[in-house]
Amino acid sequence: MSNYDVTVIGSGPGGYVAAIRCAQLGLKTAIIEKYNTLGGTCLNVGCIPSKALLDSSEHFHNAVHNFAEHGIKINAPKADITQMIKRKNDVVDQTCNGIKFLMDKNKIDVFTGVGSFVNATTVKITDDKGKSQEITSKNTIIATGSKPNFFPGMEPDKKRIITSTEALSLKEIPKRMLVIGGGVIGLELGSVYGRLGTEIEVVEFAPTIIPTMDGSMSKELTRVLKKEGFKFHLEHKVQSVVNKGKSVVLTALNKKGQEVTLEADYCLVAVGRKPYTEGLGFENAGVKVSDRGMVEVNDHLQTSVPNIFAIGDVVRGAMLAHKAEEEGTYVAEFIAGQKPHINYNLIPGVVYTWPEVASVGKTEEELKAAGAKIKVGSFPIKALGRARASMDIQGLVKVICDEETDEILGVHMIAPRAADLIMEAVVAMEYRASAEDIVRICHPHPTYSEAVKEAAMDATAKRSIHM
Ligand SMILES: Cc1cc2nc3c(=O)[nH]c(=O)nc-3n(C[C@H](O)[C@H](O)[C@H](O)COP(=O)(O)OP(=O)(O)OC[C@H]3O[C@@H](n4cnc5c(N)ncnc54)[C@H](O)[C@@H]3O)c2cc1C
Repeated sequence: MSNYDVTVIGSGPGGYVAAIRCAQLGLKTAIIEKYNTLGGTCLNVGCIPSKALLDSSEHFHNAVHNFAEHGIKINAPKADITQMIKRKNDVVDQTCNGIKFLMDKNKIDVFTGVGSFVNATTVKITDDKGKSQEITSKNTIIATGSKPNFFPGMEPDKKRIITSTEALSLKEIPKRMLVIGGGVIGLELGSVYGRLGTEIEVVEFAPTIIPTMDGSMSKELTRVLKKEGFKFHLEHKVQSVVNKGKSVVLTALNKKGQEVTLEADYCLVAVGRKPYTEGLGFENAGVKVSDRGMVEVNDHLQTSVPNIFAIGDVVRGAMLAHKAEEEGTYVAEFIAGQKPHINYNLIPGVVYTWPEVASVGKTEEELKAAGAKIKVGSFPIKALGRARASMDIQGLVKVICDEETDEILGVHMIAPRAADLIMEAVVAMEYRASAEDIVRICHPHPTYSEAVKEAAMDATAKRSIHM
């Protein structure tokens, strides 16, 4: 039986980052993954494949709608979904192989099979042929991630009633698609197919889409997506979705309690994800799980058993790859005796629509509800020279700061490459910068980043130069 300092169960961004950091710190490390490829949800059926398809569909959209204006004449382009999916699969393969390379480079032992606790220091690994072996470890990190969630009446059959996983590998471009859930995953995958010509109808229980983000972002994104042809059924409670063979029929109750029926080729169920802890044998180790199925952890990400840790989607907090990575690093350093720290307030959130939406810190609604005295500044993307040059004129940047101290409390933006732009705000907030600090920093011209500076000017003293 092999003995380790640390065993990681699950090879997603939480697990593989934890394993690499443990190995860097001189700990003898093993990682267990039940699938044949490493990388978890993020690399196989999440962040990477969705962005590959978003990029392909965005190129197609530009070819159809924007090339002529730029003076590029082409014959009417045709979308080849088979090639798009193949390219996406190639991107996934290369990225997953990269993780295998990193495991070898860092001398981490990789075990393929389902990991389950025999006791607090022993994990059994069972492969797909039923063969099992046991390893012992001083510490174990549970990084088993999450699975798509659904509510009664909308159970995915994975044929016409699909989850994000199937939506990433469709063999045809649907004429019509229903999307249950106006959150990040539903809007990103809805965008992929919407750009390829699919009629998208979003059914959302809340009164707004991306309901956890700043209200102004949701308002602007709704406007942008409606222009692209999205239809929204807000405040609709789904009752049932039925596969009729060649179509799906969805019934929902609108806010007046009236029944609404919608029909399409496919229905994507994107109502969030749930922690995945099946078959882990927690009862053998004494690991406690909350009512909502999450592994319970303290501030050091220790479970109810001190030498067993849990990170990423399987514990409380945002279900995001970069949050999982931060927690992976945290636990590795904690086990090695260091004093790491995570600032959960500064984990940025992104929606990869076009333009992208990105956000960090508190929303205006949260701050007002808490009674905070704030100043709010904003700047429209269309007022930038860079935006007019590229014809990407939609969106805005909003900076919220403390009325008295000027400290930045939240930055929200819908802009081209907002996912990258938001990092200026994250760095500024990590160093507790004021809006005035951003104003005093020279921003290159012409760039989208000038909108951040202009919004900060608007927040400090309504002194934006270009508005
Ligand atoms: C369509 C989609 C798009 C997304 N886009 C983004 C994005 O753009 N940005 C972002 O930050 N986040 C995104 N996410 C979320 C992101 O994928 C997750 O937050 C992230 O993968 C969580 O990482 P993790 O390490 O906690 O778990 P996971 O990535 O889920 O990995 C867990 C791994 O554990 C394995 N496992 C489970 N149980 C066992 C067991 N008993 N034994 C062995 N192995 C086991 C699983 O097979 C899996 O490989 C997206 C998700 C989806 C579905």
